[in-house]
Amino acid sequence: VSLLVRDALILTQDEHRRQVRGHLYVEDGAIVSIGQEAPEADVVIKAQGRILMPGLINTHTHLAMGLLRGFGDDLPLMEWLSTRIWPAEDKITPERMRVGARLGLLELIRGGTTTFNDMYFHEPETADEADKAGIRGILGWGLSDVGKTPEGQANTRLAAVEQLMRKYRRHPRIRASPAPHAVYTCFDETFAKSAELCAKHEGILHTHLHETRDEVYETEAKRGKRPLKVLEDCGALGERTLLAHAGWLTKAEVGTISKHGAAVSHNPTSNMKLATGGVMPLPEILASGAPLGLGTDGAASNNRLDMFEAMKTTALIHKQARWDPKVADAQTVLDLATRGGADALGLGALVGSLEPGKRADLILIETRRAHMTPMFNPVSQVVYSAQSSDVALTVVEGQVLYDAEGHHTIDEHGTLREAQDVAESITAEDHHS
Ligand SMILES: [Zn+2]
Repeated sequence: VSLLVRDALILTQDEHRRQVRGHLYVEDGAIVSIGQEAPEADVVIKAQGRILMPGLINTHTHLAMGLLRGFGDDLPLMEWLSTRIWPAEDKITPERMRVGARLGLLELIRGGTTTFNDMYFHEPETADEADKAGIRGILGWGLSDVGKTPEGQANTRLAAVEQLMRKYRRHPRIRASPAPHAVYTCFDETFAKSAELCAKHEGILHTHLHETRDEVYETEAKRGKRPLKVLEDCGALGERTLLAHAGWLTKAEVGTISKHGAAVSHNPTSNMKLATGGVMPLPEILASGAPLGLGTDGAASNNRLDMFEAMKTTALIHKQARWDPKVADAQTVLDLATRGGADALGLGALVGSLEPGKRADLILIETRRAHMTPMFNPVSQVVYSAQSSDVALTVVEGQVLYDAEGHHTIDEHGTLREAQDVAESITAEDHHS
């Protein structure tokens, strides 16, 4: 099947950040050409001068946590987890997880996200829903050794994680991976074994790191070392490691991360909402060369899966923290949401820019709106002015997932109804005790 987007303003996000006015032509899921001469195609999309750019890459989320959106706002992280989130998660069955996954997928696709990196439980169900929705994703099966997931301890889960990794190893869009929750919830052995699985099956070891000051100080008090050092010492810090948050890092720790080739996911909206205090050291991480992407975190701590909001928040938080408007300029931030995220997930050869040979994951942005007019610099417009509802088209692997007619792969109204029902069931008080 071939697809042609005609007459677009194309932000290629290639090595030279070329902007091209013309067409983009896709065959069998891959970009074949970008330029002036438009070939014939099975599907033709008239861009009429709107912005065509790579799909956004969300490097850290808990997809089905949308079921708990707005349930337990305005609480500190540990209180929020132990009094609201963990008791409700105990009631999420595999079938309920499917509904939460579809809810999250609706939001991602509608908002122009074409690749996501997940961490949650009942991951085989989420992987199946992601596959059916047509999105690209790395499905991190959340692991914990302290009984904080309804699936039991991590050591009993690793064989199932490996089976899931094998199942999707050759899939064109879906990969599975181990996602040990954090140093304070998982044994060293779980991290070591997860690293082995990632080396064997090309996975991404996805974990939370240095999110709060308490996490860092309590680990230091208990273990005599900070969480990053714990990971390093058990062989879990490498080119297949993705560290979510990293809000409390020293300069030396930034050096340790880049020395091992590990990647970082920056989640400023969630950090600010949970008041974690630490601001990820963006200029230092960029200078270190460590792969860096943006994430939303789960919708329970954000409360959206909105990568446009993540971009703008990233720009604002660092400008403000450093008293320097140049510290996170629009092009740098757009890079993080596209190329940077692809590199952080080990997908840089496939996605993250629009170039012949890469997979056709792309979005079209509506520009004929008051908040998008006038347009001097399209990159600036995407980062500072655009919002997720400006996405007019989402394509993954050459397939249209969303356009003016709505969602093509998910029943939107049915899913919204089911999600409300499931959310009410899992948050209802138990009265029969
Ligand atoms: Zn998280």
